[in-house]
Amino acid sequence: MPYTASEQRYDEMTYARSGKSGIRLPQIALGLWQNFGGNRTLDIQEEMILRSFDLGINHFDLANNYGPPPGSAEENFGVLFKKHLRPYRDELLISTKAGYYMWKGPYGEWGSRKNLIASLDQSLDRMGLDYVDIFYHHRPDPNTPLEETMAALDHIVRQGKALYVGLSNYDAKQTREAVAILRSLGTPCLVHQPNYSMLNRWIEDGLQDVLDEQGVGSIAFCPLGRGQLTNKYVDKIKEERANPTGNLKTEAYTDERIAKFEALQAVAERRGQTISQLALNWILRDNRVTSALIGASRVSQIEENVAALKAPSLTSEELKEIESILDG
Ligand code: NDP
Repeated sequence: MPYTASEQRYDEMTYARSGKSGIRLPQIALGLWQNFGGNRTLDIQEEMILRSFDLGINHFDLANNYGPPPGSAEENFGVLFKKHLRPYRDELLISTKAGYYMWKGPYGEWGSRKNLIASLDQSLDRMGLDYVDIFYHHRPDPNTPLEETMAALDHIVRQGKALYVGLSNYDAKQTREAVAILRSLGTPCLVHQPNYSMLNRWIEDGLQDVLDEQGVGSIAFCPLGRGQLTNKYVDKIKEERANPTGNLKTEAYTDERIAKFEALQAVAERRGQTISQLALNWILRDNRVTSALIGASRVSQIEENVAALKAPSLTSEELKEIESILDG
């Protein structure tokens, strides 16, 4: 069946400006790190991607190594793009990255000009695209001068192979330096992609200030703590405590940890929400985070997560309560 996108696709989603750029990102974006490789049938991937787009998720995040096996998420996305999404290319923001291990030899990872340019060419080939919207350097490289990596990003934009560039996993100091180099080259950094959730708040210790000051947006990856901030996970740790199977480490289901998750669940329930929805509202509680980059293994999860955007903002009392739960 040929796909026609829903006429209502922009009704549910909210879009927020990425830093001081001209680009607005959907506040929920879909990442293809897991569940979109060769280990999943294309039918489920197709269903998730098309339903996402119908819900206004016009941003799909990939990387050269997503799969498994590495490269297969881009290949699968390429198949689905060709089959369904090509007519909507100008509505889509497609990102990919280079930096992690991809091929043998000295140029298959990290941050050399050689790696970035070859890797993006391979990604474009796998996805069947002429360009990506955002190209990220996936992780800082301690051995390549930052000037070389940033010049490669600038070159890629000038070649027309990416419209914007981003940084991922760079700390506050590395970000400040990289952003300054990019600006001096005339290719501003659009967005930073850090790990951020209720369970991992490292960006609050410096990086957020740098991004604010530099006018760079942020898209938080693993906003649900890789699936831990979900009702499903709370049930799982409670079951494990009742009947240990050895599938989880004992630290995962201590009384203290279970109490913390139950307290979050109680806040969510009072708001008529699931923990995932609460976690997403919390990530997006102020404009310091532009977008939450979720993963999903089924359509219902995407629907549930997008529905969080309809919830009222967290009140200052709720924020205080969450803070004391997370501190405890
Ligand atoms: P999340 O923290 O959103 O976890 C996603 C997982 O949570 C899903 O696979 C699913 O688990 C579960 N889940 C999601 N929604 C629900 C729900 N409503 N109810 C119950 N369970 C739910 O993110 P990921 O860790 O998957 O990462 C998201 C994206 O971030 C990646 O795809 C990638 O694009 C990016 N990323 C970037 C990195 C970087 O270095 N730049 C590193 C890691 C990720 P299940 O599969 O068990 O159903």
